[in-house]
Order: sequence, then structure tokens, then C-alpha cells
Amino acid sequence: MNSYLSKSKILSGLQCPKRLYLEVHNPELAEESDDQQKAFNYGNQVGEVARQLHSGGRMIEYDEGLSRALEETRLLLAQPSQALFYEATFSFSGVLVRADIFRQGDTGHRLIEVKAATEVKDHYLWDCAVQVWVIEGAGYPLERVELAHVDNSFIYPGNSEYQGLLAYQDLTATIRPYLDQIPGKVAEFRSLLQGEMPLIETGGHCDDPYPCPFWSYCSQGQPDPPEYPINALPYARGYLLEALKTDGIDDIRQIPEGYLSSDNHERVRRITVSGQPELEPGAGEYLRELTYPRYYLDFETIQFAVPIWAGTRPYQQLPFQFSCHIEAQPGELTHTWFLDTSGQSPSRSLAERLLAVLGDSGPIFSYGHYEKTIINSLMAMFPDLAENLGGLLARIEDLLPLTRRHYYHQQMKGTWSLKAVLPTIAPDLDYESLDEVQDGGSAQLAYAEAIDPATPPERRQELSEKLLAYCRMDTLGLVRLVTFFQVAPGPVPHP
Ligand code: SF4
Repeated sequence: MNSYLSKSKILSGLQCPKRLYLEVHNPELAEESDDQQKAFNYGNQVGEVARQLHSGGRMIEYDEGLSRALEETRLLLAQPSQALFYEATFSFSGVLVRADIFRQGDTGHRLIEVKAATEVKDHYLWDCAVQVWVIEGAGYPLERVELAHVDNSFIYPGNSEYQGLLAYQDLTATIRPYLDQIPGKVAEFRSLLQGEMPLIETGGHCDDPYPCPFWSYCSQGQPDPPEYPINALPYARGYLLEALKTDGIDDIRQIPEGYLSSDNHERVRRITVSGQPELEPGAGEYLRELTYPRYYLDFETIQFAVPIWAGTRPYQQLPFQFSCHIEAQPGELTHTWFLDTSGQSPSRSLAERLLAVLGDSGPIFSYGHYEKTIINSLMAMFPDLAENLGGLLARIEDLLPLTRRHYYHQQMKGTWSLKAVLPTIAPDLDYESLDEVQDGGSAQLAYAEAIDPATPPERRQELSEKLLAYCRMDTLGLVRLVTFFQVAPGPVPHP
């Protein structure tokens, strides 16, 4: 085990001592999620822009090992000619930190910690405090400590001009009260790492402030959770869950008839107990009245912490793909799509293709408000297309509220997400059978890789095919849902 405790290890220990223990002794048990990969990518991209904005600094490389980085930092800091450093490396009392941006001054130094978030979060104060404790302990007094985060009101003008992307918060005074607690924490974590793995059960801390990569490991071997947990009751208030727990109820099937006052909760309870799905006739009645041609639409979008296309903001949801099944007459289906992996902004050509595909009449089925949100954002981006795009909004038929009102199946476990509904009506549409791209998060990663100039053409083609297969399954799912509602023979009787 490396005898240094890094800043990230201390932050892990603050989240959960068991996480720290596992990171040091059993790192192979960690499982990185797509969201963690995305957060990591955002961090790298914002860090790169921060260095571009604070140009002329010296990067302290880590390739030749920690001792070399420490020594190089020490030697360069002794030279007054060098004032700005990236990843300057310091150690104090066995704790190691690497400073994103460190500026040397005559009377004191300036530390800038760079984050891809859009605001200062509480745990960043610990993050900065650990760095200050080490850097000052190593003999470099800091006169200013800042956190640079993404300003999401920034609009990228293009030409790699990122002045204004970062907002700076002065944390110099805010983090001082944390400093006194750090020696105790360091001693506590050192002692913990010498002993047995702490016995800590999973809970809210496993996601706060970050999703823990040891979740799979820690959740094994714990008592099986109830099959239909009470917190699957949709939008159940805390007091209801507390009352149920107090009454010794942790599975929806244990709730007595008459206990729940909400009609929707009672419906979920009744269907969960009986195992009989319920479909009210209203969905089919409504859908059968709609005209043809019909369109089944789904977008895929991406967000960038650092905008790459002129006129866009950080974390703006930008569509890069859509899938559309077109039903010209009942059962007469064709499929079309849009996907641009050129790396150029796809928004304009996507909007134009959307208008061409969707024509000027016929219902457009979507699931949830996402499609409307995206069309609204395209209207804001392209005022000359706004009127025609606005015409699409008026034709959207959102299947989510219709499904929520009229259908429930025991296996949906309190959610009406499309991925919960589809297995109950179209089990052959199996997202897990798709290779690599199986959900919105993996679609974003695939797209980001596809537009990376370093990606070879064959891999780009492979990713495009996977993206198309995924998005196509979403709209086929909408087709199957509408068909299910329309052909179902009347209401399923209540038990
Ligand atoms: S999953 Fe939860 S309990 Fe396990 S190490 Fe992570 S934070 Fe701790």
C-alpha cells in the first residue's frame, strides 16, 4: 500500500470509511458506471479549458512517479521565474495533493480548484480545505483559495473562445474552519486502513455526494430487499412510509385493504397483491379515434460541460439523433432516422429533417415531455423554423399520462417509465439484447466517442449502428404500446 493518503482517498473516507478501505485494499471490486465515466470526462474537459484560460503555466507530470512530481514542484517553486503551475504536487504529514492551478505570488500563493459542476457544493469545501492544509503545511502560505466552476449562462461564441466559461468563488475564509478537523480525520483514516474492513451497511450515504463504485459488492450478501418495497408506492410521502414501517410493513403486499387513502396507491397495492394487470378501456378508446399517418418519435441528446458548437451553453441538452416509425395505415410501418456523427453541430440539419419526416398532419407519439422540450429548444435556436416546429408541438400525443391513467402491471413496481412498461406488454423488446448502447447514458458515451476525431472510421460505423438499433427499439416500443392499448379487449376486471 502506498503510504501517502491522497486527497481523493480522504474525500472517499469522509463519504464512507468502508469506501476508503475498499479503494485501498480491494480496488478491483469497484465498478464504474456510465454516469461516473461521463463525470470523469466532463472534469477532464473543464480542466483542459481552465488551463487554456490560465495559459503559460508549467504542467507537473505524474508519469515518472510521485517522488519525481514532488521534487519537480519543489525545485520549480524555488525559481521565481516560474509562477504558474498545473497539477503542482505537494505532501504534508503523509497526505498528497495535486493542485489544479497554483499561482505563485510574492506575499502568498493562489490556489484554484476547478470543478465541472455549475455551483459550489458543500463537499467541495472539504476538497479545498484538504489542499490548503497540505499546501500550507508544506510551507506555501495561500492568500487566496478559489473554486472555479462552470457558468451555465455562458454561450459559446465559437473559435475555441472560452473566456467566461468559468465562474470563480472565493473560498479563502469559508474553508478555514475545516482545517482544524483535518488532522483528526487523517489519523482516523490511517488507523482504519491498518485494521479490518469496517462493517457499514448500505444507505443514503452510498450516493451522497457521489455514487459509490462499490455498490454491487456491498449490496451482495445483505438480506434480500422486499420484492415490492413500500417505497415503490408512487410519490409516497415520508410520513406514510414511516407509518407503514412502524406497523411492521415493508412489502406492498402486506398492506391491508383500506389502509391507503390515495386511489393510485390503492391501485398499485391491489394489482401488486392480485398479480393481475389492469387496463382501463379509456386508452384504447382515445387512441382508436386518432388519424393516420401516425408518427412515433424519440430523440437522443447529449450535453457538454464545455460546449463544442457555437451558440450553445454548457450542459444544454442537444439532440443528435432521432428515430421515427411511421404508420401510414393501421399496421403499415416504415422506419426512418437521423444521426449525424460528423462532429459538426447536428441541430440545424436535425430540425430540418424532422420537419421533412413528420410532414404537416397526423399524431406524433412520444413518451414523456422530453420530445416537446427538445422541439422547444430547437425553436429557440432557429427562429426561422419556429413556426413549423411549433406546428409539431400541437400534434404531440404524450403516451406517458395516458399509460399512467389507464394501465398498471405488478412488474412495473411503481414506475411508468417506458423501460418498466415495455417488458410487461412486449417482452421480446429486450434492451439487454442490445450491444453496448442500452440506455440514454450509454448512447451519450457512444455518440461522444463517435464524434471524436481520434475514433477510427470502422469504430464510428459500429457505434452508429448501435445507436440506431437502440433508438429504433424505443420507437418500436411506442408502436407496440399503442397497439397493445388499441387491441386489448376491454377492461381487465378487478379481482
Ligand atoms: S456502497 Fe455504500 S457502504 Fe459500500 S463502500 Fe460504498 S458507500 Fe460504503
